[in-house]
Amino acid sequence: MKKNVFYKINVKQGDITKEKIDAIVNAANPSLLGGGGVDGAIHSAAGPELLKECATLGGCLTGEAKTTAAYLLPTKFVIHTVGPVWQGGKNDEDSLLKNAYTNSLKEAVRVGAKSVAFPAISTGVYGFPHERAAKIAVQTIAAFLEKNNEIDEVRLICFTRESKDLLEKVLIELKNG
Ligand code: ADP
Repeated sequence: MKKNVFYKINVKQGDITKEKIDAIVNAANPSLLGGGGVDGAIHSAAGPELLKECATLGGCLTGEAKTTAAYLLPTKFVIHTVGPVWQGGKNDEDSLLKNAYTNSLKEAVRVGAKSVAFPAISTGVYGFPHERAAKIAVQTIAAFLEKNNEIDEVRLICFTRESKDLLEKVLIELKNG
């Protein structure tokens, strides 16, 4: 029988830069040199030292993840990952999004973070369909938690009420399915 890991996954509406948690995940772009959306919000709340550290990392491939300190943020680590740009679904977008979640969680385990907050990776400027992205996020996180005991909590931070409602629906469906 599968382990019940869904109690470790929580959905919350809010601004990820305000989360008091071991690590937050940034939906970055491959340069890791800052951008708009959640990336811009994280850099502006963390202060300029974050960009300096990011500039030493040599960028990040789609689906991979790299960790930095969190500077002025109320968290210990920022895990920068790059989600896929939606191109209609035939360019491996689903597995690249899955990799972004799995590799971020692997980074969390590597640095000893026990609680991790995620934004809805790829659902902003990168254009991934929201429900499809939400299902991949929850399925991937649950599969990781089934195999790894190190993480106590994964918090899915939704910027809007609409995305919170959607994630809660998907979470209930997958929990019961
Ligand atoms: P991507 O380029 O991966 O699509 P975006 O930053 O454009 O990344 O959007 C990813 C998601 O993050 C979107 O659903 C957007 O609404 C959300 N978002 C934007 N700002 C914040 C924030 N401060 N906290 C949490 N989520 C945010």
